[in-house]
Amino acid sequence: MEHIDAAVTNRFDTRSGRPCEFCRDLDPQFPHRRPLDQMVAGSRKPRASAHLTEDGYVRHRMLELRRLTSRVALTAA
Ligand SMILES: [Zn+2]
Repeated sequence: MEHIDAAVTNRFDTRSGRPCEFCRDLDPQFPHRRPLDQMVAGSRKPRASAHLTEDGYVRHRMLELRRLTSRVALTAA
């Protein structure tokens, strides 16, 4: 198991990445993500497209959409 994780991690330069602040603030499941799914490319602002993995991208987009829909729900309620 350990060597598989290392192999996946080595596909990216994780030193240039960092945890996505947007997801970290908004996703309660963030600590349970795989490390790569937490990471965005370093120099850019936290955007969905900066995520290193498709899963990270999708989760980021879902958080954006949920924030939009919750705003709608608040005004509707
Ligand atoms: Zn994110």
